[in-house]
Amino acid sequence: MEKNEVLESLNFIEEIIEDDLKTDKYDGRVYTRFPPEPNGYLHIGHAKSICVNFGLAQKYKGKTNLRFDDTNPTKEDVEYVESIKKDVEWLGFEWEEEERYASDYFDQLYDYAVQLIKEGHAYIDDSSQEEISRMKGVPTEPGELSPYRDRSVEENLDLFERMRKGEFEEGTRVLRAKIDMSSPNMHMRDPILYRILNSHHDRTGDKWCIYPMYDFAHGISDSIEGITHSICTLEFEVHRPLYEWLNKTLRIYEPIQIEMARLNLSYTIMSKRRLLRLVEENHVNGWDDPRMPTISGMRRRGYTPAAIRNFAKRVGVARREAVTDVALLEFSVREDLNKITPRVMGVLDPVKLVITNYPEGQVEEMTAINNPSDPEGGSRTMPFSRELYIERGDFMEDPPRKYFRLSPGKMVRLKNAYIIECTDFVKDETGKVTEIHATYNPDSKSGEDTSGLKVKGTIHWVSIPHAEKVEVRLYDRLFLDEFPNGHKDKEYIEFLNPDSLKVIEAYVEPSLKTAKAGDKVQFMRKGYYCVDPDSTEEKLVFNQTVTLRDNWSKKQGK
Ligand code: ATP
Ligand code: MG
Repeated sequence: MEKNEVLESLNFIEEIIEDDLKTDKYDGRVYTRFPPEPNGYLHIGHAKSICVNFGLAQKYKGKTNLRFDDTNPTKEDVEYVESIKKDVEWLGFEWEEEERYASDYFDQLYDYAVQLIKEGHAYIDDSSQEEISRMKGVPTEPGELSPYRDRSVEENLDLFERMRKGEFEEGTRVLRAKIDMSSPNMHMRDPILYRILNSHHDRTGDKWCIYPMYDFAHGISDSIEGITHSICTLEFEVHRPLYEWLNKTLRIYEPIQIEMARLNLSYTIMSKRRLLRLVEENHVNGWDDPRMPTISGMRRRGYTPAAIRNFAKRVGVARREAVTDVALLEFSVREDLNKITPRVMGVLDPVKLVITNYPEGQVEEMTAINNPSDPEGGSRTMPFSRELYIERGDFMEDPPRKYFRLSPGKMVRLKNAYIIECTDFVKDETGKVTEIHATYNPDSKSGEDTSGLKVKGTIHWVSIPHAEKVEVRLYDRLFLDEFPNGHKDKEYIEFLNPDSLKVIEAYVEPSLKTAKAGDKVQFMRKGYYCVDPDSTEEKLVFNQTVTLRDNWSKKQGK
């Protein structure tokens, strides 16, 4: 078995599906759906749901629908629809035929509502919102029956028709199912099925001024589409009796609803409503800000679809709520980037190094292997000259005993080039090192080293006259608290990390001059970086995707 391969045994949903396949419950079909509401961009929690739904269909040779739950026109937008389609595709999944919309079924849903009324299972309630919630009461005691509950079928049909025609003001009437006002399950206490909303809808225009509630539209849409296993998150467990009641009462095809735990990530918030606030209040630069836990943010940051899919596999499918360490996501990202990115040199905190015995004006092309873990990755050359940039942190005037980088009188290898010995350095009036001097050993060239010298440290560099000056955006956690949402007395906004973005100038090797947005590299000894779409002809912009190691856990002493 390949190292790090994700171990798989059947999860509880797969067990249900395999049982259903054995008993031929759905004629051997597996048909799932991913049903986002287009009221924001997708986040990593949605990514998990996408991987589960599409993954199950792939595994059992089934199908998956992408269905937009567009039943609330006041919060929804086509911008979100487009971003969601892009994100699902980017993750590597294909939905069945065209995407679906709950609004495609508005006519059918209306007819089903009429059927419920005719069969005595629904009524128009003229009570106000407040009255309705008051009468619902508390789970431990039966609720109160609405005074409108026993309206005649004829009156209900007439009122519902007039609601549809726009004869009534918003909030003056609703259609409710007539189920059980004493049920301990509050969702069964005559839930609202339709409300009046005088809103224009992106797809149905002004055709409707009544819109179905999520619970009513959702289960029936599943039924209409012939979905077999309708997977949702645990908070919908209490909605399941209603889900089943609706399809049963209407005598239409019945899918089963299965609930799994939602993904919760440490240091991360994952609610579209809360993410929208970060965008609207400019705490971040848009939904695709690389610090956002959105799929578009992670794409821009340099995360790969494979890394996210592997992460979802590692998290697995469970019935119990848990918090996943965000370090697991970063681990999956490193693991994939390690396989696919070329190793290049970039100096993020430069200090000048002069090789005093190297001829002025001379340039040598040094050979560099692109990716040591990819035998087919090939190689490239990079120019070497008398004046180089190295990392400021790779030099110390008074090093501790086990410091194997550069210090006066000490030797290091310049990666892919020569062994050098530090002879001198220059400081400015503040004590800051401004220049380091060294001599090189001409017999120590990488690959043809006959010097017999042994050195412990290897450092990266770029040739000053050839280097490309770039902008690098360094990221830290967006939130400083492990559970930004878990405080009674404080809002998540209060835990925003003021230093989550740091912009620096850096120098990278000239082979990167032609890099394009989305290209990913490993800056040796530093981390993984990718080219941001903000890059221009004049200046490349790199996003730090993830550091080579988990610095955060180290900082926390974990
Ligand atoms: P949010 O609260 O972030 O707005 P939502 O559940 O309201 O999320 P929807 O657009 O309704 O968002 O969700 C589409 C699908 O994604 C649903 O099936 C939902 O259960 C699933 N989903 C949303 N968040 C998570 C999560 N954190 N983990 C797993 N699945 C999720
Ligand atoms: Mg929602």
